[in-house]
Amino acid sequence: MNNAYFHVKLPVNEPIKGYMSGSPEKVALKAELARQLASPVEIPIIIGGKEIRSEHKAKMICPHDHQKVLGEYYIAGEKELRMAIEAAEAAREEWENMPWEHRATIFLKAADLLTGKYRAKLSASCMLGQSKNPFQAEIDIICELADFLRFNTYYVQEIYKQQPLSTDGVWNRVEYRALDGFVAAITPFNFTSIAGNLPTAPAMCGNTVLWKPSSTSVLSSYYVMQILMEAGLPAGVINFLPCRGVDFGEVVMPHPKMAGFHFTGSTAVFNDIWQQVGQNINNYVTYPRLVGETGGKDFIFAHESADVEALTCAIILGAFEYQGQKCSAASRAYIPESLWGEVKERLEKEIAKIKMGDVCDFTNLMNAVIDQKSFNNIKSYLDYARESNDAEIIIGGGCDDSVGYFVEPTVIVAKSPKFKTMVEEIFGPVITIYVYPNDKLDETLQSCDAATSYALTGAVFAQDRAAIIKLAKRLDHAAGNFYINDKPTGAVVGQQPFGGSRGSGTNDKAGSAINLQRWMNQRTIKETLVPRTVVNYPYMGEE
Ligand code: NAD
Repeated sequence: MNNAYFHVKLPVNEPIKGYMSGSPEKVALKAELARQLASPVEIPIIIGGKEIRSEHKAKMICPHDHQKVLGEYYIAGEKELRMAIEAAEAAREEWENMPWEHRATIFLKAADLLTGKYRAKLSASCMLGQSKNPFQAEIDIICELADFLRFNTYYVQEIYKQQPLSTDGVWNRVEYRALDGFVAAITPFNFTSIAGNLPTAPAMCGNTVLWKPSSTSVLSSYYVMQILMEAGLPAGVINFLPCRGVDFGEVVMPHPKMAGFHFTGSTAVFNDIWQQVGQNINNYVTYPRLVGETGGKDFIFAHESADVEALTCAIILGAFEYQGQKCSAASRAYIPESLWGEVKERLEKEIAKIKMGDVCDFTNLMNAVIDQKSFNNIKSYLDYARESNDAEIIIGGGCDDSVGYFVEPTVIVAKSPKFKTMVEEIFGPVITIYVYPNDKLDETLQSCDAATSYALTGAVFAQDRAAIIKLAKRLDHAAGNFYINDKPTGAVVGQQPFGGSRGSGTNDKAGSAINLQRWMNQRTIKETLVPRTVVNYPYMGEE
């Protein structure tokens, strides 16, 4: 024991590489894409540090070219899930008691490995498996994931430093224990950074974790798991369990030692699990912490003083980057009549230039949506809009799943702010616009605030300062991440802590100290230096 206090340095955000022509990162990435396409892989379940192969397997394909197979993964069933609970429980005591600086080092090393020698491998897996262009892969699996690991380590240290007041003769202390059981992490397909963050944030705080990755992002999630193991994560601390959601729900969630649930995904799944937890509430050893970031119906609200060029650029990038499959994607916009002619013209001109196709063609801005189910769902909304008298598809609307799951960037204009595509999450490259009469600003703001059940992200565009103040105030509960004159996507760890409320989640702000505190279980200790020996109080004495 050296009895020293160590400091995790304040991190800086991982710089985004440009992938310019001839750059070493571009050359390496292209070579890695070719290598992964030519060498399908087999992905095991990982329980207690061991590779496990079950009886069931599933294929991993490229969404932009569904005949291309990237490999297969093994699916955990009830037996493997029960083994994982045992492994997590067995690893818990030693992990929780590992000195903090050693726990921290594992995650800091993982960040350096992923931004260093594994950068191309990770980016390529995310591009091929989740149909991301190089920039989208870079900001997700490289920069954001490294930021989560480094900033969270720093925030844990800052929490550990916080101590209560002490008085003369009394030393008060707070210990930050792990939770009294394991944490279940269920992760979405759309960001591998989130997939990596949900199990690592609780693990950093001394918890052991069961991680269920999404079936459509197993490849990149597995490489993250491998890096964590290479960085020194002990066996059983995080158990990697590709499996069916219902199996995880039935076996893991009602277990008495399930002490925390870290989720990102759709509102419906989070609500189901919350209900399941409620039904089992008498069986748990401790009240499980429930943290969920869920769906969104994110808005752009333009005031008549808005800068039209900035506004249209935000609509296009906010709605169509990564095919609109960001929880923060702009999917409804409110434009004043006086600006609409110019906005429409610019949208038509700029969207016509967007190229869509295979991720290996770096001239494409857009690629495919994640799978057949998602393609069918988006198409059903477009069919609905096409057949309705209350809306018109003015740009795009085409869908083609013959080679990959491609949906054109689409703009719908709705006659009512309550039209179906103005209120429901579609999770595709579709934005619906409501053009409002300039003198109906207050009514339209009311509709923007109340029309959907979500409150994740939102942006207002205005140059008039009084209008900015009015819009920001009127929409203060409509978004957990609020933007002024910027698109509602692209939150950066350490800069814009992310999350929303209402139907969008518990707003525990991923990548912040608030989130990490949910995975800690404080014990307050009062130590009295010279304990009192007299029972009577002074007031009891009579002269
Ligand atoms: P999803 O809800 O379909 O799946 C999320 C995870 O839950 C997957 O691992 C899935 O296999 C699992 N799952 C599905 N049914 C389950 C069940 N019955 N029991 C247990 N697990 C189950 O979401 P998705 O399609 O992966 O991601 C898109 C959704 O995620 C969108 O709604 C999006 O808005 C949301 N999202 C939110 C944020 C945020 O920060 N708020 C970030 C990313 C994505």
